Amino acid sequence: MDKELLRKYELKPLPYNLDALEPYISKDIMDVHYNGHHKGYVNSANNLIDRFNKVINQDEKSYDLQGIIRGLIFNINGHKLHSFFWENMAPASKSGGKPGGKLADLIEKQYGSFERFKQIFTEAATSLPGSGWTALAYDKETGNLNIMTFENHFNNQIIELPVILLVDEFEHAYYLQYKNKRNDYLSAWWNVVNWSDAENKLRKYL
Ligand code: MN
Repeated sequence: MDKELLRKYELKPLPYNLDALEPYISKDIMDVHYNGHHKGYVNSANNLIDRFNKVINQDEKSYDLQGIIRGLIFNINGHKLHSFFWENMAPASKSGGKPGGKLADLIEKQYGSFERFKQIFTEAATSLPGSGWTALAYDKETGNLNIMTFENHFNNQIIELPVILLVDEFEHAYYLQYKNKRNDYLSAWWNVVNWSDAENKLRKYL
């Protein structure tokens, strides 16, 4: 069988307009975040895939494999995390409020109430030092909904875990609008959570 080159990633269109999450997430932030940062992760991942293909095919004599792999992890995860994060939000008419369905049942069973869950998730997100993400993931082994925080993008292929909800806490996700008030950004973010997307993601694992 002919050997193939490793394939590249593609930046998919946003599922809504840049201004669709206003006033909670401004158009300027979405523009910089999607057209700047997310596109940058895709381009960097693809450049590194070119380099990695050369390494595999022995077209490059001297290379920094550790650097290439570290860059691949950062940029591939950056791409996947952002693709997921965009889906996880929606314009105000279709977002915010409370989850329904199986997700609501699980949250109520394990956290007592949605309000208590929201408090603990926010507290966890607030405790994250520096840049990173807070995620809600479904553990198939126990059936638990786990709240997890992780720094940067370096939790390798985190997005392939049963993650159902994510919030981006890099400064680029809020600074233009909220400056250093990350807590204000986090409170605003709850207004744009797409609960039906989270519910669909959870149902894949039940
Ligand atoms: Mn980001």
